[in-house]
Amino acid sequence: MATYEYRCPRDGDFDVKFPVGTAASRVHCSVCGSEAVRVFSAPLLARTPRPLVAAIDRAERSAEAPDVVSTIPAKPRARRLPVNPAHARLPRP
Ligand SMILES: [Zn+2]
Repeated sequence: MATYEYRCPRDGDFDVKFPVGTAASRVHCSVCGSEAVRVFSAPLLARTPRPLVAAIDRAERSAEAPDVVSTIPAKPRARRLPVNPAHARLPRP
């Protein structure tokens, strides 16, 4: 079975499963019963979370054209507290 995408003019896109190679060019919408046409789309591209896409794009962009800074970045804040409170009791150098 393969999943095929159809578009109803009233209800939008929906998926229908058919055996491979047997998908009709038009089916009836399960909601309103009107004729829906088959839609060809890139599979699973819309399911990538936008923050992940932005992070990947930023990482790829930084490899070719990293951001240029005009000032020295500020020093990090004073010592941060450790995540585990038990680490605060460990000896310090
Ligand atoms: Zn419909």
